[in-house]
Amino acid sequence: MNHDHSRPHPETRAVHPHVIEPVGSRPIGVPIHQGHIFAFDGADAMADAFAGPRSAFFYGRFANPTVRSLEEAVADLEGGTAALATGSGMGAINAVLMGLLRSGDHVIAQSCLYGGTYALLAGLAERWGVEVTHVSGNDPEEVRAALRPQTRLLYLETIANPTTQVADLPALIAVARDADVTAVVDNTFAPVLCRPFEHGADIVIHSATKYMGGHADILGGVAVFADDVKYQQVWKHSIELGAAPDPFAAWLTLRGFATLPLRIARQTRTALDLAHRLEAHPAVTHVAHPGLASHPQYELAQRLLPDGAGGVLSFDVQGGREAGRTFTDSVELLSLAASLGDVSTLVMHPASTSHRQLDAEALAAAGIGEGTVRIAVGLEHPDDLWADIDQALAKTA
Ligand SMILES: *Cc1c(COP(=O)(O)O)cnc(C)c1O
Repeated sequence: MNHDHSRPHPETRAVHPHVIEPVGSRPIGVPIHQGHIFAFDGADAMADAFAGPRSAFFYGRFANPTVRSLEEAVADLEGGTAALATGSGMGAINAVLMGLLRSGDHVIAQSCLYGGTYALLAGLAERWGVEVTHVSGNDPEEVRAALRPQTRLLYLETIANPTTQVADLPALIAVARDADVTAVVDNTFAPVLCRPFEHGADIVIHSATKYMGGHADILGGVAVFADDVKYQQVWKHSIELGAAPDPFAAWLTLRGFATLPLRIARQTRTALDLAHRLEAHPAVTHVAHPGLASHPQYELAQRLLPDGAGGVLSFDVQGGREAGRTFTDSVELLSLAASLGDVSTLVMHPASTSHRQLDAEALAAAGIGEGTVRIAVGLEHPDDLWADIDQALAKTA
């Protein structure tokens, strides 16, 4: 074949496409930078890129422009100085805990925690020599009594699953700050509704898989930092851990992020509406949503979550475990599925699924009934959701 020597061969041209950057206009949304390597014009520029998280992009596990856009959006939402996005919520939690703790350190953590976090802390205690004391999450004196010279970290969740317990962030974090203990808050259940930095938190974590992504199509996590030293420390550990998200997942998360305030406002409103209707239903013995006056942290929720106390509610059906399972078997519009924060409404029976490793005593201690049903409210019309809940409740009688 004749070859035009003024141009490289087809194989060579095939791997060197012309990368189009807009000139004279700019995209209004964040582009997907799916590529994980970036080229430099000189050796010094490339060497400089290895200096830290804010240097030029060079390799995707360290930083990526699409991922950075997501990090900046979440840092801005929470009011932090920097954020680190990861491939899942557990990736963010691992990066924070393992990036900040060492053997011999002591952690004070809430009792009712996300299952993965609880298991991670138990593993750190068993295999890495990190000691853990669990506290209720509502009593600052309990935190004060648990403090030791080795206490490094206080770990809380704004709203706990599935009990909807609201942690007393201001009171508990104040005790931690007095003792120079880093306060970490998992705010997955209350993005937009609560800003834990305003209550003294040092680090805020989200499973972006839930409300932030919002469409049940990505796994993601974000840790936001009030202070740059902790950010750099956790970033360094996360690149060693390999916790980086895929840029496409980060892009989908940003797409969800655009409607996050609208979605969560609606989900919160519908959840409270359904909670009121459930409270009035004769087959229901107990309803938990922090917006109900009957909720043990109602007053706290009014202060901490003035714009609404989240889109998750749980309730107990007359007839215990059997009735709870009958309910989840009988729903038609609601999906029997794990997770939360999706545009569609999800229902599950914690005692037989997410909390099955807990025996009756541990379930009771966590505040979860044998028949407790959890609903993570989506964007459907509340009347349609109620019609389905009502017919499923009728089957439990
Ligand atoms: C789901 C969840 C996590 C873990 O997030 P993944 O994205 O599944 O890894 C952590 N904390 C809370 C409160 C969650 O709901």
